[in-house]
Amino acid sequence: MRDTRNTRELRFTHFGAAGWSITDGETVILLDPYLSRVRFQGRRYGPHDATDIPNDPRPVVRLDESAPNDTATIDRHVPKADYILLSHSHFNHAMDMPYIARRTGAVVIGTESTCNIAANGGVPDEQIHAVRGGEDYEYKTFSLKVIPSLHSALSCKLYKDFGTVPQKDGPLQLDEFVEGGTLAYQIRIGGREILLFGSMNYIEREVEGLRPDVVFVASAPPRLEIHAYTERLLRSLGRPRLVVATHWDDQGLPFGASQDKALAQTDAFIREVKAVSPDSEVFVPPHFQTLVLDASGTMRVAS
Ligand SMILES: [Zn+2]
Repeated sequence: MRDTRNTRELRFTHFGAAGWSITDGETVILLDPYLSRVRFQGRRYGPHDATDIPNDPRPVVRLDESAPNDTATIDRHVPKADYILLSHSHFNHAMDMPYIARRTGAVVIGTESTCNIAANGGVPDEQIHAVRGGEDYEYKTFSLKVIPSLHSALSCKLYKDFGTVPQKDGPLQLDEFVEGGTLAYQIRIGGREILLFGSMNYIEREVEGLRPDVVFVASAPPRLEIHAYTERLLRSLGRPRLVVATHWDDQGLPFGASQDKALAQTDAFIREVKAVSPDSEVFVPPHFQTLVLDASGTMRVAS
């Protein structure tokens, strides 16, 4: 049930990859906050090594190595967090979560793998809420529907990423951040319903009938491995008025590098949205842009 009492402004700030900060001015909820932008090599899922650019100052990190958190960037952009939701446990979603949770005291919500990453990273037990999908949890200032979901079919459907992130002492290697299952989330906050995805797939029967005010759709090219990805999703959701493209960037590039190639690829996604839902407004936010959904229901870019 939509609770439209006390409808208030919401702000959504994009961190690149599938990362977001969402706030009603009181509670700050993060999704998949990944700001370390590792220059990885030897990736065993996904299409390629981190894109080479001239004069990249970042060290190369192999998949059988661990990567440090870019604490300076995280501290600059994530001053506060109350909750951290994880769609799944790959390093480009989950590796910065323990640092952020320790520093902010935020509660971590995710799968068993996500919870093991949190515990391995020194997040106190009382800050770790394990979910499986199907829960509908009430928190003080919002409620959260946890939705069983799927990861994208990477590497032209050759994607194989099984198992659970192990419990261990010491830092995880990048290749120990296995998917560990994938979830989507619908948050009810500030009189709105916000549906969030962190990978390019979904289970149609699990989202059928949801009526979000805003849907964040993972929109990178692996979506094209899925039958009628955009059309089936938006039809199931009743053609939401506001659609935000997420997970659209080349996450192997550092912040500040040109994303023109990835941005150009979002044109096709926008066309897919318009074909099934001509009245939807589509946003493709660059890194660190904030979108504001005001109390009247209008979405705009923060000035
Ligand atoms: Zn992933």
